[in-house]
Amino acid sequence: MSTINGNVSFWYDEIGLPAPRPALPGDLEVDVAIVGAGYTGLWTAYYLKKADPSLDIAILESHFAGFGASGRNGGWLANSITGGRSGYEKSHGRELTGRFQELLNEAIDEVIAVAAAEGIDADILKGGELLVARNPAQLHRLGALARDEARWPEGDAKLLTAEQTRERINVAGTLGGMHIPHCARIQPAKLVQGLAAAVERLGVRIYEQSPVTEILGAGAGSNAPGAPRPRALAVTGRGQVAATHVLRATEGFTANIKGLHREWLPMNSSMIVTAPLEAGFWAEVGWEGRETLEDLAHTYIYAQRTADDRVAIGGRGVPYRFGSRTDTNGETQPETIVALERILKDMFPAAADAGIERAWAGVLGVPRDWKATVGHDPKTGLGFAGGYVGTGVTATNLAGRTLADLVLGANTERVVMPWVNRTVRRWEVEPLRWIAVQGMYAAYHRADAQEAAGRATTSPVALAADFVSGR
Ligand SMILES: Cc1cc2nc3c(=O)[nH]c(=O)nc-3n(C[C@H](O)[C@H](O)[C@H](O)COP(=O)(O)OP(=O)(O)OC[C@H]3O[C@@H](n4cnc5c(N)ncnc54)[C@H](O)[C@@H]3O)c2cc1C
Repeated sequence: MSTINGNVSFWYDEIGLPAPRPALPGDLEVDVAIVGAGYTGLWTAYYLKKADPSLDIAILESHFAGFGASGRNGGWLANSITGGRSGYEKSHGRELTGRFQELLNEAIDEVIAVAAAEGIDADILKGGELLVARNPAQLHRLGALARDEARWPEGDAKLLTAEQTRERINVAGTLGGMHIPHCARIQPAKLVQGLAAAVERLGVRIYEQSPVTEILGAGAGSNAPGAPRPRALAVTGRGQVAATHVLRATEGFTANIKGLHREWLPMNSSMIVTAPLEAGFWAEVGWEGRETLEDLAHTYIYAQRTADDRVAIGGRGVPYRFGSRTDTNGETQPETIVALERILKDMFPAAADAGIERAWAGVLGVPRDWKATVGHDPKTGLGFAGGYVGTGVTATNLAGRTLADLVLGANTERVVMPWVNRTVRRWEVEPLRWIAVQGMYAAYHRADAQEAAGRATTSPVALAADFVSGR
């Protein structure tokens, strides 16, 4: 079987690419302009319009709604805090960080509830998340993780023996595991397409094929000499959108906007999916609970059992393109397909003969400190949310609600969460940026190889890479 590579993602093979929407017809005046129609932009529009139906909202999208990571991801609706809890514990304290964790747990149920209320069938199934340790060093890290999780009962993580782990999903070489009950599996493109339709029903306009080249804040300079600009602006080749608030939701593509080149590094993640697997495979592997699955390698993989009984598995592949270039249509490198297939078949020997039907890649946004931010400045009218690294499917919902609160000046507990209005330093200039990411992933691959060969504890090579990369 030859593998089809690119064409956005497998998830669109199931539902078809959406019918095109109109492009921006020319200059426009609105209350709120949102740049980017992925989960972040759509959730923000959804909650703004629900809170104040009189708001005139336009979303500007460079390709089509759901073109980015939101239509390509692994479908983990998980409760992760991007970049972890410990940094926030140091900066904001135990109590607020614990509450932040609870808000992310609750956001999973919020997504499930909105999907039900809006009639979005996104194959959602809440089976939790299963982490597996497959060598002694990974088991050692699992122990450290379990000790840390014990300090955060809000996460509800449960350490499992090898046998208990295999009872859930029979992954070859499992030495131990952890189950976190909050995660739900989803079909990502179904969710993003359903959300786009839901915001349109509320009266939000989505303009496609309308890339924004520059975003300018109110008061920051002017076209007319001496006069401050009265409103924020989103500039496109098709016209300018003037708005009281311009909200950037462009995640891994942010480097393409003028002045934002070094803000978030565009990191690639790639996936493959098998053909539907036979009953014999599932009898051997189990996976009845449809948990999402992850290993504890430094170059970790993430996987799900799809609604039609395939295994979809992803990993970083070739992580970064020189000069922050982003892909267009989702093609991944052939060597990444080979590497992911090798891992899949190593984890599941019963899949030895399984065909790999599809492969694709997407891009995610990595801030210099690996933590997401929701930001808004009422003086300039500019806002943004993103930098979720690989954990945005749930976080985008909480970010969208938070950004809506900030725009509306609502005094909710969300606006005091530790990720709001952070200042993060920018990435280094090239070629340093490229060298740093290549070096980091080379180190992780080396550390994984040492650990697979039997090292008992985490390789110092990986610890050094964590330190240098700021992870
Ligand atoms: C392969 C892969 C697997 C992943 N798996 C998971 C997972 O299982 N769980 C998880 O939590 N996270 C996962 N992620 C991350 C998650 O998908 C993202 O964090 C999330 O989708 C981000 O949503 P977003 O709306 O901020 O960005 P995006 O979905 O990328 O949306 C940004 C949108 O902005 C548009 N745009 C960009 N630039 C411009 C511009 N200049 N003008 C106008 N429009 C513009 C883009 O076309 C795009 O539609 C994965 C990511 C990838 C790539």
